[in-house]
Amino acid sequence: MTSKDQTLATPVLSWTADGAVNRHFQDPYFSRHDGAAESRHVFLEANDLGRRFTDASTFCIGELGFGTGLNFLLSWQLFRRHASSAAQLDYLAIEAAPLTRQQMHTALKPWPELANLQRQLLAAWPQRTPGYHLIEPEAGIRLLLMFGDVLPMLQQCRSQVDAWFFDGFAPQRNPAMWSAPVFEEVARLSATGASFATYTAAGDVRRRLQSLGFLVRKRSGFGPKRDMLCGQVRAAPRTFESSPWFEWPRHQPVSAAVIIGDGLAGACLARVLAERGMEVEILGQANGASHRIPGFLVRSYPERTASHSHRLYRQGFASAQAFYQRYTDESYRPIRIDTDGGPMQGGVLQPAGAIRTLLAHPLIRQRQGELRELKLAQARWQLSTTAGPLQSDCVILCCARVPAGLDPRLHDLSTPCAGQVLQLAGPTAQAYSGRIHGFPLAASTQLGSSYRPGEASLEIRPPENVQLLELAQQTWPASGCSPQSQVLANYTGWRGITPDHLPLIGPCPDLDRWHLDYADLHHGKTRQAYPPASLLPGLWLNLAHGSRGACLAPLAAQLIGAALLGAPLPLPTKLIAALHPGRFTIRSLRRGHPEAECGARNAGPA
Ligand code: SAM
Repeated sequence: MTSKDQTLATPVLSWTADGAVNRHFQDPYFSRHDGAAESRHVFLEANDLGRRFTDASTFCIGELGFGTGLNFLLSWQLFRRHASSAAQLDYLAIEAAPLTRQQMHTALKPWPELANLQRQLLAAWPQRTPGYHLIEPEAGIRLLLMFGDVLPMLQQCRSQVDAWFFDGFAPQRNPAMWSAPVFEEVARLSATGASFATYTAAGDVRRRLQSLGFLVRKRSGFGPKRDMLCGQVRAAPRTFESSPWFEWPRHQPVSAAVIIGDGLAGACLARVLAERGMEVEILGQANGASHRIPGFLVRSYPERTASHSHRLYRQGFASAQAFYQRYTDESYRPIRIDTDGGPMQGGVLQPAGAIRTLLAHPLIRQRQGELRELKLAQARWQLSTTAGPLQSDCVILCCARVPAGLDPRLHDLSTPCAGQVLQLAGPTAQAYSGRIHGFPLAASTQLGSSYRPGEASLEIRPPENVQLLELAQQTWPASGCSPQSQVLANYTGWRGITPDHLPLIGPCPDLDRWHLDYADLHHGKTRQAYPPASLLPGLWLNLAHGSRGACLAPLAAQLIGAALLGAPLPLPTKLIAALHPGRFTIRSLRRGHPEAECGARNAGPA
């Protein structure tokens, strides 16, 4: 139902006296008799959600067929009634043909008691583009919408679902939603003890579920329907990625974490973890680029480009925009950006103010200091810092580069790249992003940025101002800049960059073991012949964001936060693999050049 050109089908609906009917499938979205009562009976009660919500600190629902959002709104309403105020609901839903806001609004008019929740949902409703969209219509309620066809969406997903709603259109009209491969993926994505419910009692569906070992019960159906099915999923956890080396660790409960680095990536992560109830200690000296440079430009990328990095940054931008607007108040301002390919959505972030606001949370403790040494002893990370010792089961490095002291091959995965920005008097009307970027910031214009690959030097170099102004004159004439423009101020900072310009986000590989386990990768054996990835337990990387940290920091934080808390990962497997800190090692082992794994020598595809 999706096409490759990044658009999704808009469903054609008939509005009958009984509600919305999808004309393609000739099937209604919910019962003609009382859709909300049907949803409660079939999905909420048959999954025993009221009781299970009462006991849960976190709960995850998976839905095949999001439709009007009725099941989601009713689950949210029930969760608020039964779960504790600190509890967290994750809801992942697959939908090939998302309704428009107007269609959703019209479809749910019969239930005014849902109007408030629906308003919040529609306010956060994402662009109708294929792929993943994580929204948080209310604190503690996260909805991961996967727009696309059911099977490929499930295959790219990683999650531990507690209760499933199978709500595709009727199996005889829409077999794709009820196929054995779909239910195999359901088994893979289920937590132990997961339940399911569906309105259908079709014999084919029942037999398919039973053949996968699901315990299936018939229950009386809603309204004129005699029966429906519900029961227990036989969870069959197996790898989410066919490459064992890119496997992320299975979720182990953690309640506290230490973050190294108090720049934007660290602050976003600290806030995401604290919002999910984790205690966070964040170590830093407030002296990185995020603290020095007055403004960061955050931008999206055109829908027509399908490269890994553009898909990633598009999703990153959508998350960033919602996240900064929610958690950083005035430090973020949406702005239209002119690019060489036309206007784009964007925003200007004032990072120092944003970091202050993000870290102002009762579960976040800031510690002023620098990491001296990090080592694993008695199954815990022992940190020696200038502010005293720390220990933790979970440490996340958010500090531009892997600090020296760990395996030097990790340190060499990224290189520093210093850059200089300048400020001119008077704000420009517009923002621009191309070979340089510029944007208005209070009463001035910020223009950047130069690149000094391999350098961490923070020295201010006047010739770089001239180069930036010349480039602005050529590529952004609307700015009115010229080499003669008077520079009011200069700022410098350095970022960590990798050879493929994507950051390092994910669990930290144990490289000694990787070199043993995957030494003969270049012989071309099948992936299944290799053991799962050896990882340094509880150590995560979220760094080397290069020049686009402000765009990706919120999504990176949501990704690591989801992994630490056992929630659905908000990125498809392919993109998770594209960010994996071990990708350069695998590339070099595949080529049979293990010694060439690091740094700029290794820019080829995985
Ligand atoms: N749960 C919905 C609600 O609360 O309104 C009603 C779901 S409706 C019965 C079925 C949904 O499944 C439709 O929105 C339809 O677009 C979606 N769907 C049908 N085939 C699909 C497929 N192959 N992949 C993903 N979604 C599909």
